[in-house]
Amino acid sequence: MQESAPLKVYKFGGASVKDAAAIRNLRHIVQQHGGHGPLLIVVSAMGKTTNALEDIFRRAYEQEEYTPQLERLEAFHRETARELAPDFGSTTAAAIEQGFDETFSALRHQLSTVSAAREYDEQYDQIVSFGELLSSRFVAAVLNDQQPARWADCRTLIRTDENWREARVDWDLTAEKLRAELPPLLQETGIVVTQGFLGGTASGQTTTLGREGSDYTAAILAYCLNAESVTIWKDVAGLLNADPKFFPDTVRYPEISYQETIEMAYYGASVIHPKTIKPLAVRRIPLLVKSFLDPGAEGTVIHDCRHGLLVPAFIRKDGQCLISFESKDLTFISEENLEVIFGALAQARLKIHLMQNSAISFSVCTDFSSYRLEKLLAVLREQFTIHYNTGLELYTIKNYDAESIQRLTAGRELLLEQRSRQTFQFVCRSSHQEAAQ
Ligand code: ASP
Ligand code: MG
Repeated sequence: MQESAPLKVYKFGGASVKDAAAIRNLRHIVQQHGGHGPLLIVVSAMGKTTNALEDIFRRAYEQEEYTPQLERLEAFHRETARELAPDFGSTTAAAIEQGFDETFSALRHQLSTVSAAREYDEQYDQIVSFGELLSSRFVAAVLNDQQPARWADCRTLIRTDENWREARVDWDLTAEKLRAELPPLLQETGIVVTQGFLGGTASGQTTTLGREGSDYTAAILAYCLNAESVTIWKDVAGLLNADPKFFPDTVRYPEISYQETIEMAYYGASVIHPKTIKPLAVRRIPLLVKSFLDPGAEGTVIHDCRHGLLVPAFIRKDGQCLISFESKDLTFISEENLEVIFGALAQARLKIHLMQNSAISFSVCTDFSSYRLEKLLAVLREQFTIHYNTGLELYTIKNYDAESIQRLTAGRELLLEQRSRQTFQFVCRSSHQEAAQ
């Protein structure tokens, strides 16, 4: 490996490490990269591990039994390793086992300290982060079996504040740490594997960057280390105009600008975490979205480019809730009232996806969380009459035309709709409740 060879960043999401076959496939993709310069690999937690850890944490916090769930999670990791065991020698098998022994024992210890007397979100980060710690050590050991690969703990590299569950990056410190520590590691081995989704505070506490935040990690690393490109390996052919799980006849964009992608991610396109694009756009680092099922295929290049009008993109967000506020003294919805409502929403950390106001009422569409909604109601109940509907979906059509609106709204009862020059959005009752689970 040459010292000056440009760095590439690969990000593998949960689906690309979900079982033994997926991990074999990952190894194959990394092998294909061969000695083409240093490679920094970011991995998510295996399969649905983050959801499982969220459940385990909630149980621990509410003092419910969590042992069966924890045992299932551990068995899943260890069985995957066992299935892969014939692929490698005993040193690798032992390294993987040691990784699991140490990490699960740290997780058990951490769970034993969970207390309802301390803040939920802070403790959440200490537990839910274990998914990536497990998967990254596992993947590093598997790769190291065939070519030198090192594991790096990004909690000591990506410095954040204490905004638990959505920590904000201290860019200067992070860049300083990464530039000091990663190049020597990469020079030594050519491949470094680290965790997506995680950061660490000045006092050494673990933070998370927001659900699905591993893409963002890849962008942070690429930005700070001036990488040549970032590749996100997905189970779809590239950036599509809709999620094929919910929409038929999807179309892949061969190339698309940063700007368009930021907007799609903002509206909830699940393919890329919304914070990912900006750092890459600033440094003009191209983001490649490729299929791990067909690694040779073209995929999508997200970069600085001009293109004509794109085909309409359909974006669906489920688990939505529509909250409406009416002031109790029948005054109009005024700036003063809105200030109070916005303040309470921010305090409850409920993000507004869509809003609309009329003379006496104001409505917002947010993700549904009973815990956060309770917080909101507690603050606003006295001043406002509040109604809310749950089990809703928010649809956005970006670059809409009459036909696409007709196609998507047919047969649905719209509870709220809004149209701007390029986007059409509406909220309706969920029609995919089973599919959305
Ligand atoms: N494992 C985390 C999650 O599922 C982060 C990620 O996958 O990007 O949200
Ligand atoms: Mg994931």
